[in-house]
Amino acid sequence: MSSDIPAVETLQWEELREIQIENFREQARRLERTCEYYRKRFADTDIDAIRKPEDLSSVKLLSKDDIRQSQQESPPLGWHACGSFEEVIQTQASSGTTGRPTYVGVSPDDQQQWNETLAEVFRTTGMSPGESCIHAFGLSKGFVGGIPVVQGLEKLGVNVIPIGAEPGAKRLLNVIDHLNPENLVATPNFARYLGKQSPKVVGKPASELSIERIACGGEPGLNAMREELAELWDARIMQIMGATEIAPAYFGECEYQNLHLVRPDLYLPEILDPNTKEPLQWEEGTTGELVMTTLAREITPMIRYQLGDIVTVDETDCKCGRTMPSLTCHGRTDEMLIVRGVNVFPSALQDVVTNSTLPLTGHFRIRKTFEGHSTENRLELLVEHKPNPELASDEIRESLSNELQSQLGVSTEIDMIPPQTITRPDADEKVSLIIEE
Ligand SMILES: [Zn+2]
Repeated sequence: MSSDIPAVETLQWEELREIQIENFREQARRLERTCEYYRKRFADTDIDAIRKPEDLSSVKLLSKDDIRQSQQESPPLGWHACGSFEEVIQTQASSGTTGRPTYVGVSPDDQQQWNETLAEVFRTTGMSPGESCIHAFGLSKGFVGGIPVVQGLEKLGVNVIPIGAEPGAKRLLNVIDHLNPENLVATPNFARYLGKQSPKVVGKPASELSIERIACGGEPGLNAMREELAELWDARIMQIMGATEIAPAYFGECEYQNLHLVRPDLYLPEILDPNTKEPLQWEEGTTGELVMTTLAREITPMIRYQLGDIVTVDETDCKCGRTMPSLTCHGRTDEMLIVRGVNVFPSALQDVVTNSTLPLTGHFRIRKTFEGHSTENRLELLVEHKPNPELASDEIRESLSNELQSQLGVSTEIDMIPPQTITRPDADEKVSLIIEE
């Protein structure tokens, strides 16, 4: 166990939950005094009676639509913003992939919390002061993977090289070749793109460059690419996870490949039954919807915020010493499809397609021909085969269909398509695996 881990991350679970609930009550009382929006939301809640996490059920859940509506009615930061706009020293936006972006503002104290949280996330991935890290998330889009991540790396004491994704592979790879940083932060797709460009740009494979560790985040689908990335760069691939409303990243993967929440004194997680919204126990195997509460945020506090992610608790006793159970994130609740009664995430399909030994390129799309999330028909897929595969496309189709059925229980109708038919993502662009029809 490393002595660098903050004490709060190694407390016994019950003790930690008590601290979180105490911090929750303190913040709720402050919001009741200072913010009309939250005063209304707490109207039916006896804050002093909240003594354990299950008691939080008496507080209304907050959705992305609530935040959007609040900001449309009371711009710029919404009814839920506390304090005055003059105290805000940085405003960041969500990526806005699903409608109008939402905005968060941070006060000096909020920024300090973000910096400390990010520093802890990167420390969890194994980075340490004295090392260098090249930043290759988008820097110019006003999103939290940009400047806040740079500031978090600085807080850790890492020598950060803030290039960003925008200048492209040539610039980034040349800088890596000149400065020999040990670390890279990027989306998985962009890290793959960079790795593949390396021979062309700097005349050697990415595995011969200095990168030893890649902290990947900002989009789903890392697990399908993990092995390929590790081999391409000859590096350790570490997942990080965040959300604009909570913190740029607040989950980091440890050396034992477990994804932990860091600084649990600042963020309180709950796992709810996606249908009933009742709280579930934090036991290995528990799967449900992740709901987060910030515990000390000044300007845009989030109380029981529905991130829309479905997670599973996969370890409660990690060897690294962190007591916060580690999670696997499957995808967003709004991406979950129900095919003939079986829940399936696009990311799970991607895992199967990528790891299959069939002659496939790994690229595929779901053709969504139904309204909503549920269909009684088979799920239609477009799957690229490799150039001149040895098997006939009918045989590939049938074998893949069997693999998907046996691994995920999902019935599919597959169209095999030639290589390079599916548009490859640009730089830091987010990829949707679903084509709506
Ligand atoms: Zn761990």
